[in-house]
Amino acid sequence: MAARRKLVAGNWKMNGNLVANGELVSGLQAQLGGFAGADVALCVPAPYLVQVGGLLKGGVMALGAQNASEHASGAYTGEVACAMLKEFGVRYVIVGHSERRALFGESNAQVAAKFAAVLAAGLIPILCVGETLAEREAGTTESVVAGQLDAVLALGAAKLGAGVVAYEPVWAIGTGKTASTEQAQAVHAFIRTRVAKSDAQVAARLQILYGGSVKAANAQALFGCADIDGGLVGGASLQAAEFAAICKAAA
Ligand code: PEP
Repeated sequence: MAARRKLVAGNWKMNGNLVANGELVSGLQAQLGGFAGADVALCVPAPYLVQVGGLLKGGVMALGAQNASEHASGAYTGEVACAMLKEFGVRYVIVGHSERRALFGESNAQVAAKFAAVLAAGLIPILCVGETLAEREAGTTESVVAGQLDAVLALGAAKLGAGVVAYEPVWAIGTGKTASTEQAQAVHAFIRTRVAKSDAQVAARLQILYGGSVKAANAQALFGCADIDGGLVGGASLQAAEFAAICKAAA
């Protein structure tokens, strides 16, 4: 089996403005010009999809969104449909980020519906899973992650395999605390083994990203783990030199 290709996706969260976005993307393009060592995506706030999509045209970085509605159209004020994202050149869509689960009450069932809607639109969902600090301390990391994963696995292993999984321990997101390589690899291996119980080939090919305070200083060690296939990067994706170094660590 060929080695899995790595993916580094930046999650800008609710940050940016027209000027700063332009500077960030041109800084990245200067450093990642013909970069082919890994796939790279920028998941930007919805209002900036047009701007950033235009800037990324013809380059090596793909455009991503941070959320999408599970509904196709209709009376869902404030929501954005997957087909709309597709019209603007989006390739990846983050679903079930822990901030959406915690702050916007997204359930496992809703996240699975979003995952299915993203796929149905011909886009690639990045499914986020991960435990809180309290859940880790209570020894429930595996059962929490299993519940989040199983909701999507119930769509069929092939569907899960058409997307990407990101393991993001909630206690490591935006906190500066990174999971150790042992902690991260253990959960990644758990995820792959669980998927393998449904379909071994899908599991072997599945890209499983790590997210949680990834930076240039820890990226290489994390990405060197057997079951870590790249990263979902928040804070560090807002700095061109730092994010470019993380991408290069995946090569
Ligand atoms: C994230 O937002 O998905 C994330 C991992 O953030 P950070 O890298 O800032 O921890």
